[in-house]
Amino acid sequence: RVVVSMRHVSKLFSNGTLALKDMSLDVQRGEFLSLLGPSGCGKSTALRIIAGLGAPSTGQIDWPSSKINSKGLPEGDVGFVFQEPTLMPWQTVWGNVYLPLRLRGVSKRDADPAIMEVLASVGLADFTKSYPRELSGGMKMRVSIARALVTKPKLLLMDEPFAALDEITRQKLNDDVLRLWRETGITVIFVTHSVFESAFLSNRIVVMRARPGQVYADLPLITSGV
Ligand code: ADP
Ligand code: ADP
Repeated sequence: RVVVSMRHVSKLFSNGTLALKDMSLDVQRGEFLSLLGPSGCGKSTALRIIAGLGAPSTGQIDWPSSKINSKGLPEGDVGFVFQEPTLMPWQTVWGNVYLPLRLRGVSKRDADPAIMEVLASVGLADFTKSYPRELSGGMKMRVSIARALVTKPKLLLMDEPFAALDEITRQKLNDDVLRLWRETGITVIFVTHSVFESAFLSNRIVVMRARPGQVYADLPLITSGV
């Protein structure tokens, strides 16, 4: 089943930058897809369009297996993890992960089991009362991942999430993301400029090139996670 479908999508920004040119892509349920390419080739632009955070200039974007809301966007089916863990400093770990549920009107009491479960799954069960400033970069990233997963989205979008972390932390997080993917069957689109990371993680690599941003190879892999 197709989770996201892009058809001949182009994105021209108002300053004249053609960030994406004629991108077509069908993402199948359960895939772990890496979007690989040099910086500036349009990976983030494509990811934002896939998330419904930006409209294409021409072409179509569709989420065939999602409920679509009145704005034509997928309803609560997409979790997003950015490179900068945009945590609220005045909230605890628990409070940060609660936020997406609070926005849906879920009470603290009803939210607690889901929050505790997702925090345990990223190894933060003992840090629920900590504040972001007390956490390492890797742990903040885990909080971001937990916050993206707490609503049980069908699709997890990650935009160069581990690029700013040291090599060992990054490898641990790669292992954890792979484990979460296997356990949940979630569809993942992972933006990276690391060939190693894409080969280690994915079962499909979509390679892009810049000026203008275009897909230039689409490689299905036989195995994932050596
Ligand atoms: P649009 O062309 O879709 O109207 P804008 O030019 O208004 O988009 O920019 C939208 C946002 O992207 C703004 O917050 C702006 O600061 C930011 N932005 C502008 N140029 C760049 C760039 N080269 N790279 C990344 N972000 C940018
Ligand atoms: P990547 O994620 O592969 O590094 P981006 O999607 O961020 O690439 O950017 C693709 C191109 O579009 C770049 O040239 C970037 O400067 C430009 N760009 C991105 N966002 C905006 C924006 N809001 N306004 C104008 N140009 C942008």
